[in-house]
Amino acid sequence: MLTGMVRFTVLASGSKGNSTVVTGGRTRILVDAGLSCRELFRRMKLAGEDPGTLDAIVVTHEHQDHVNGLAVTARKLGIPVYFTEGTHRAWMRWLTPRRQMTYAQWLEQCQKQAAARQAEADVDEPEGEPDEGDGVAQPTAAAQPQTEAAMTKDPTWLPAVEYFEAGKTFQIGDVTIQPFTIPHDAADPVGFVMEAEGVKLGVATDLGYVTPNVKAKLQGLHLLLLESNHDLEMLRDGPYPWSVKQRVMSRVGHLSNDATAEFLEKEYDGQAAYVILAHLSESNNLPELARISAERALGARTSLLSNRLLLAEQHQPLSSVYF
Ligand SMILES: [Zn+2]
Ligand SMILES: [Zn+2]
Repeated sequence: MLTGMVRFTVLASGSKGNSTVVTGGRTRILVDAGLSCRELFRRMKLAGEDPGTLDAIVVTHEHQDHVNGLAVTARKLGIPVYFTEGTHRAWMRWLTPRRQMTYAQWLEQCQKQAAARQAEADVDEPEGEPDEGDGVAQPTAAAQPQTEAAMTKDPTWLPAVEYFEAGKTFQIGDVTIQPFTIPHDAADPVGFVMEAEGVKLGVATDLGYVTPNVKAKLQGLHLLLLESNHDLEMLRDGPYPWSVKQRVMSRVGHLSNDATAEFLEKEYDGQAAYVILAHLSESNNLPELARISAERALGARTSLLSNRLLLAEQHQPLSSVYF
């Protein structure tokens, strides 16, 4: 791979799935895996990205639209997943069916699983296609129903898990990552500033409002991916039940076009070459409303060289941005 390159490709953005590929130097990172593995790979290929070269997945928070294809993708590629501990635990809880079990039952289940693993290890494995359903290269004997081991296989298993903490910078290969806390109704949600080759990329979606710390983090960027989730009037008059509307509008919900515009107009330093509006609601927003609102806020600061405004899409990847 080329060195000295920074590339940013939004594969999907919105309440049905979020995922972005960030390449810095020789390192390629998937930020969130909110589509099925198959669809993620399809979109990477469409965008000219080779899935086989991904080095790691970093996760913002455990909501389904950010983790849908996480386990399958990580397993298929054999790459580590970076979480905060709170997000990892919440994700595991989400995947683990809730059932009350006595200690004796638990012990019995563990022994069964161990025995099944042993039995499976003893089988002379034929080469088979990995099962697209769960994406694990699980050896299954031909024309045989799923083994007990496969059925009881831990859905939370990942090739490797790494923890990071909001406020503590960490490194994956050539990319430096600064995670910061965002106000959102998840266990321990974060946004990221990622830096490689002197280029700084900011990612902030799924936040109820722009906190002072978030404002501080989103300065001096070359690219800003920022949520512009809903139009307030469309949300109010739209199809969601009142409780959901309240949740979306709350301090731990999502940024409205107005809130995003207010940040862009009053707090943002105007330095980025690209501003990408993201996580647009399909029910409660229109791309043109989001665009007009942001354009108005950026005003005369938009030019061919700075603050080029792009809109991330739900159903197709956005053309890569290069630095
Ligand atoms: Zn989301
Ligand atoms: Zn969320």
